[in-house]
Amino acid sequence: MTKAIVVGAGMTGLSTAWYLQEHGYDVEIVDKIGVAAGASWGNAGWLAPGKTIPLSNSSLWGYGPTALFDKDAALSVPTRIDPKLWAFVAQFMARANQRSWDKTMAALTPIDKAALGAYDELIDGGVDAVTHEGPFIVGFENDNQAKGFLDEVEGAIRHGQEIPFENLSHAQALDYAPMLSERVQTVYKLGGQRYIEPQYFCEAIAESFVARGGTITTGAEVTDVQSTRKPAIQLATGEWKPADVVVIATGAWLPKLAKSLGVRTMVQAGRGYSFTVKPEQEAKHSVYLPETRVACTPAPTRGRFQIAGTMEFRGPDEAFQPGRIESMIKVTAPMFKGIDWDDIQDEWVGSRPVTPDGLPLIGQTQVPNVYTCGGHGMWGVVLGPISGKLLAKQIATGVIDPILDPFDPLR
Ligand SMILES: Cc1cc2nc3c(=O)[nH]c(=O)nc-3n(C[C@H](O)[C@H](O)[C@H](O)COP(=O)(O)OP(=O)(O)OC[C@H]3O[C@@H](n4cnc5c(N)ncnc54)[C@H](O)[C@@H]3O)c2cc1C
Repeated sequence: MTKAIVVGAGMTGLSTAWYLQEHGYDVEIVDKIGVAAGASWGNAGWLAPGKTIPLSNSSLWGYGPTALFDKDAALSVPTRIDPKLWAFVAQFMARANQRSWDKTMAALTPIDKAALGAYDELIDGGVDAVTHEGPFIVGFENDNQAKGFLDEVEGAIRHGQEIPFENLSHAQALDYAPMLSERVQTVYKLGGQRYIEPQYFCEAIAESFVARGGTITTGAEVTDVQSTRKPAIQLATGEWKPADVVVIATGAWLPKLAKSLGVRTMVQAGRGYSFTVKPEQEAKHSVYLPETRVACTPAPTRGRFQIAGTMEFRGPDEAFQPGRIESMIKVTAPMFKGIDWDDIQDEWVGSRPVTPDGLPLIGQTQVPNVYTCGGHGMWGVVLGPISGKLLAKQIATGVIDPILDPFDPLR
């Protein structure tokens, strides 16, 4: 049997491993911590192809500089001398224009359209977890604030997505999101999107993977990937493990292993925070507050409501910054009612693997039989399964699906 090692047990690694099994591979996943130990744990869990759009856009020229001097702003860049970080910011901002947005959106649209189908396949294939359907509620204080959001939705539709959306009155919105305060007067209902509880979904993929004969080795950091006749990974213990195929799916840590394999695109940790609260009335639908850049998701297993946000460009291993959660509460609290803000649980930080061009890195490195699957930025959960599916097909058959063409890791 052909042996594959997947490094990283986040959504992208787990999905790639699961789909490699579909092609008959004997697969081992190796993670320095464990299943969903990185960004795949406390993220917002949105399976929202309609919002899976480029992060860099022209509004950043107005928002970015102001945010740098506002400690409560969602975007946070530490003002220290860090040439690599500022090189990333420069490359990222170079794409903050409509032409780049359209180019990136054109590349994302085919994978966006295929994303939810891969989730259904995982579930049909034995992954014991659910995706939740139902409208997303998007709220603003006034019509003026909604312009950027409407432009983005219309942009995604222009590129070929079907996104049913309609305007709701405040009173109508309360049927879906009873926690919205009087401040939220302009509301849209977005159809065609889903959400998951990501940590449980990842655990379910892991369980299905093991039940199908896969092995997960945790607490094992990979320090090197090399290839002579066959690829092999080196563990921090010094031990080498050979395989026929190696996939690097290490999220925001991807360059550590992939740079020496010819993957030159930067991957910067865009750290986000989340926590849960308990609304008076059960939260049944996702709520998005674009102005404060906060994404809220029901957490039915815990009977709570998760609030996620911020984009903090720091290293993935830097300390948790409690001030980021305080800022999120400060900007979110006026938009909601019936929430006890002293009862905060599940505080978490995770690192989105952000590339300057907004495109993931899926495909073969310059070393034969060594691949990457990562760099999905804001959207590695919704795109994880379809990325794993298409990469597994490429590995097993040598056929590169045209959807993957823009995501060549050697671009
Ligand atoms: C606040 C927040 C909200 C988000 N909301 C959404 C959302 O609603 N929808 C969406 O689609 N995406 C969302 N994202 C983005 C999404 O979480 C990420 O894109 C996705 O989880 C990345 O998955 P991954 O498998 O590539 O990386 P990760 O989940 O980070 O996994 C990488 C794994 O590799 C392991 N690893 C790293 N280095 C090594 C090594 N050297 N050796 C062994 N193991 C190693 C780590 O321990 C980790 O388990 C959000 C992110 C954040 C932070």
